[in-house]
Amino acid sequence: MSVLTTETYNDNTPAAVLQRIALFRHAHYACQLCGASLDQRWHQQDGSPVDIVVGYKHALANGGTTKPDNLIVLCTMCHEGKGTNDL
Ligand SMILES: [Zn+2]
Repeated sequence: MSVLTTETYNDNTPAAVLQRIALFRHAHYACQLCGASLDQRWHQQDGSPVDIVVGYKHALANGGTTKPDNLIVLCTMCHEGKGTNDL
């Protein structure tokens, strides 16, 4: 499987928050890699509920941007352990 950056899109300006919400909606609140969803009672290995975050396909450290085409919705399981590699 491809690996992704551990960086998350954590800009909390109103425009960025709205953009994150739009991305979650577009992804149907599911991980765009493994499909784990908030509304299908997926659970992590430790039994805690799945959460989703917005990450970067191309790490900022590697020249990636904060533009929408560089953002991807991931579950926390896929998001963890990605290193700084690009998708
Ligand atoms: Zn996932």
